[in-house]
Amino acid sequence: MNAPLAPANGGCRTAPVLKERGQREVFCGLTGIIWLHRKMQDAFFLVVGSRTCAHLLQSAAGVMIFAEPRFGTAILEETDLAGMADAQVEIDRVVEQLLARRPDIRQLFLVGSCPSEVIKIDLHKAAERLSAKHAPHVRILNYSGSGIETTFTEGEDAALACMVPVLPETDARQLLVVGALPDVVEDQMLGLLKAMGIETVTCLPAQRIDGETGVGPNTVFALAQPFLGETHAALERRGARHLPAPMPFGDEGTTAWLHAIATEFGVSEEVFAAVTDAPRARARKAIAQASEHLRGKSIFFFPDSQLEIPLARFLTRECGMTAIEVGSPYIHDAIHGPDLDLLPAGPQISEGQDVEKQLDRARAARADLTVCGLGLANPLEAEGLATKWAIELVFTPVHFYEQAGDLAGLFSRPLRRKSLLKLEAAE
Ligand code: SF4
Repeated sequence: MNAPLAPANGGCRTAPVLKERGQREVFCGLTGIIWLHRKMQDAFFLVVGSRTCAHLLQSAAGVMIFAEPRFGTAILEETDLAGMADAQVEIDRVVEQLLARRPDIRQLFLVGSCPSEVIKIDLHKAAERLSAKHAPHVRILNYSGSGIETTFTEGEDAALACMVPVLPETDARQLLVVGALPDVVEDQMLGLLKAMGIETVTCLPAQRIDGETGVGPNTVFALAQPFLGETHAALERRGARHLPAPMPFGDEGTTAWLHAIATEFGVSEEVFAAVTDAPRARARKAIAQASEHLRGKSIFFFPDSQLEIPLARFLTRECGMTAIEVGSPYIHDAIHGPDLDLLPAGPQISEGQDVEKQLDRARAARADLTVCGLGLANPLEAEGLATKWAIELVFTPVHFYEQAGDLAGLFSRPLRRKSLLKLEAAE
């Protein structure tokens, strides 16, 4: 393959990182439930939280996750802090009720949240106790989606990380692809790997618990999402080996990601080219069309989803944009390093957030496009900046060749809209 080359001016892997630990403006980890519950068809996410948590899931996300958000509020309203023993009884009662009513549930996640009353409840203990009772039909796990502990994509990381220790042990030589992908995108990826002769591939999360296989010392894993730091560590603790690669966004990222796997499994360059040449050509053509409005434009990323670094790599190298600042909530060298290697030197790389200071930098930069959370987008739009909501990037299929044009299109739409509005105003 024509491997993506490090940029002539050097990459960003060793660039100084501006580390900020101030106030941050991002959704909490409960948000991950929105895409995880679609992906894991026999799972149920029981949020132990407050009315705010219920509103986040029902209103902001526009979905009804749990018909009984009262469960969380019932604990808070009916149990005082001294009565935490009652909280465990209450959890047992609600879980029993739920499982009796919904025998299709095979995996139940008890998801913690922010209120101090909830933080004090030992959900791990509850999950262990309930698992002992309901195994093997139902597996009960717990993680935290609290906004104090997690940014919005970290909810998926926490959910997957809590599954890793209970996956069965296996010695099978296999590839595990980690990160929830829309089914259609997952099928495309599996199709490409199969065409190369790589068939022992499993995914975490699987659509159903019965579709899961184990993990062990002969498992190699590739991350399909860049926000899976805890899951990465949990898999290494189980003896699995990570295949570092740029994230599969755009032609270059997808090709490099697939190539890392192909090399590991001994696929020849001829077979690799035969499988990838046609979809690569389609991706390049689609990107060229969709990036017409992006070329020569500047972009500023607020830290939000941890997708920022691979997206900046895609937009600068394949769409002709210039990155001014690339902020990420966290930077893991093992995960983000391959993308940083390819990101042309120049942008300020920042980790974490001090939102007021960063707003000042964004206002001074006045980039053609600013990528940020929903809470910042409206005020910045009012100041005349074109914005892109980071959250859309996790709800839209953007991985691999066939989605590469759509990915560029997501960024060009706000710029097109802005230029149309300007034209109308001028008429
Ligand atoms: S977990 Fe915390 S930040 Fe998230 S909705 Fe509930 S209270 Fe709000």
